[in-house]
Amino acid sequence: MRSEVSDPPADLTPSQAVNWFFFQAAKRLEIKEELQNLLTNPWRELAVEVPVRLDSGDLKVFKGYRVQHSGARGPYKGGLRYHPQAALDEVRALAALMTWKTAVVDVPFGGAKGGVQCNPAELSVDELNRLTRRYTLQISPLIGPTRDIPAPDMGTNSQTMAWMMDAYSQRYGYSPAVVTGKPIELGGSYGREAATGRGVVNCLGEWASLTSTPLEGKTLAVQGFGQVGSWAARLVGNLGCTVIAVSDVKGGILSRHGLNVNELLKYHSQSHTVVGFPGAEQITNDELLQLDCDILLPAAIEAVINPNNADRVKASLIVEAANHPVTPLADRVLQESGKTVIPDILANAGGVIVSYFEWAQNTQQFRWEEERVNKELSRVMSRTTQAAYQTAIKEDVSLREAAYLIGVSRVVQATELRGSF
Ligand code: GLU
Repeated sequence: MRSEVSDPPADLTPSQAVNWFFFQAAKRLEIKEELQNLLTNPWRELAVEVPVRLDSGDLKVFKGYRVQHSGARGPYKGGLRYHPQAALDEVRALAALMTWKTAVVDVPFGGAKGGVQCNPAELSVDELNRLTRRYTLQISPLIGPTRDIPAPDMGTNSQTMAWMMDAYSQRYGYSPAVVTGKPIELGGSYGREAATGRGVVNCLGEWASLTSTPLEGKTLAVQGFGQVGSWAARLVGNLGCTVIAVSDVKGGILSRHGLNVNELLKYHSQSHTVVGFPGAEQITNDELLQLDCDILLPAAIEAVINPNNADRVKASLIVEAANHPVTPLADRVLQESGKTVIPDILANAGGVIVSYFEWAQNTQQFRWEEERVNKELSRVMSRTTQAAYQTAIKEDVSLREAAYLIGVSRVVQATELRGSF
């Protein structure tokens, strides 16, 4: 790989880390400095107070954010995260990732992200309902079916989207297209819940056929057993891979002969953790990341592969099912040791692709069959994986740089063509 590029600093904030990847592409594309400034700073940021009356009678005020990174290519689009670490800089980083993600897969949206700093596991259903409604009203001047369309992310789900849609509709009239990832009964799309995990598997399959890599019998470890990790684990068997390890916040499990994913799903639905799954060995999250396996799927939080553990990752292929699981310095270490990283803005784009299908179905008031959703998703994932792979070969860069080259050039073109300044 190119040696003239200096090493990224180890102490970057989340948004600086995402911008680091952007700058690499911007340099190669010879993007003017003034435009680089515009594309590394969000167009709009909103910080709100979210007061919630708890079941105990106490009033608690949470911090909430909505960051709109770029609207050059269409309405802002991106999830809403409920997490104790959902701080402004983190949300900013995730909003920028959405800009590059929607551009690389070429869906007509910009990039945004929302966050509320809370621990959803500590809140009751009623408290979460009140919190979601209050947050929605606080950000309601900024969102709308043609302005900014939130979706689920970590700590939120289709129920959260139902409450958001209802709160927004109470004020502005019935508006299903204001959010995606809704329950089917409220205009959600078939296949949306599985979409990110399914897209990860589509992407892996396409990469394997482009590189003539046989997947049959390859061992795989998945960090995170939420919506993304659990669907990826469920579907990856279709490619012939064997899931040998899985983890969640409470810890991990390992079975060298392969885990029975269907049994694990049943166990997880009762015990709400993978820990204690009969017949499997207990491991930690750190051990999972350093496991002797062929493919590693980080499907949980940011920066889990960092300068402290990057040189101990043994898998030769890392597929970023989570957003920003690998820091820039760790990415450099992985590259230098000859490993392949399929980047987040490509690998986990299935969610926003099917969000686009949901939004299109809502605006046309026409529902697609699940088969059509999955077929179109697989078509977009294959097309994008091919484009990134070909760019990587042509430019002699990593898949991450290739994906950024494609995404950034599309956003730059749209920004310049609009000529608004
Ligand atoms: N939260 C998902 C992501 O990070 C989906 C966003 C969306 O569908 O708008 O890509």
